[in-house]
Amino acid sequence: MGPVTGVLALQGAFAAHAAALARCGTDARDVRTPRDLAAVDALVLPGGESTTICKLLDLSGLRGALEARIAEGMPVLGTCAGLIVLSSSVLDGRPDQFCLGALDVTVRRNGFGRQRDSFETDLAVPGSADPMRAVFIRAPRIVRCGGSVEVVASLDGEPVLVRQGSALGATFHPELSGDDRIHRLFLGFLAEV
Ligand code: GLN
Repeated sequence: MGPVTGVLALQGAFAAHAAALARCGTDARDVRTPRDLAAVDALVLPGGESTTICKLLDLSGLRGALEARIAEGMPVLGTCAGLIVLSSSVLDGRPDQFCLGALDVTVRRNGFGRQRDSFETDLAVPGSADPMRAVFIRAPRIVRCGGSVEVVASLDGEPVLVRQGSALGATFHPELSGDDRIHRLFLGFLAEV
């Protein structure tokens, strides 16, 4: 059997990620407990509400287990709220919110404000003539990137897709547009570890 991919299924848009991974030929497993996490080789952290995801990571006992796997280099993909949880610092977060530090970025929750809090746009993708439709829903903004962070895609000069080692983070929802290039990029990390 090949590597097994999991989707953190505590809260938020996890089913759409499982569907995107299935389109890439990978059966993803829902991850809700430390035991589930131990059975996967890579993990997607979906969008939703980062404060709730943090609370549920604590309650489920997954927080410590996930920190340990990230430290070992397990591939992780965080989208929107999932990126917030993977970041190293959160602005406009709740005081009890934590972040896992897989990506050395500072994010501002709901950084696009009320006027533009949800929108869709075409993103240029490096190495491809086809732009990618990107859905932003009360998205965070990446306001600082550390030196080890690679900006993979930007919107109006601001990073919206970033990579550090085997961690990938998008401020938008790649699972909602039917374009699976980001999931394929992520699955490629499994061949590297
Ligand atoms: N605004 C949400 C948060 O702070 C993220 C929104 C999303 O994941 N679509 O967690």
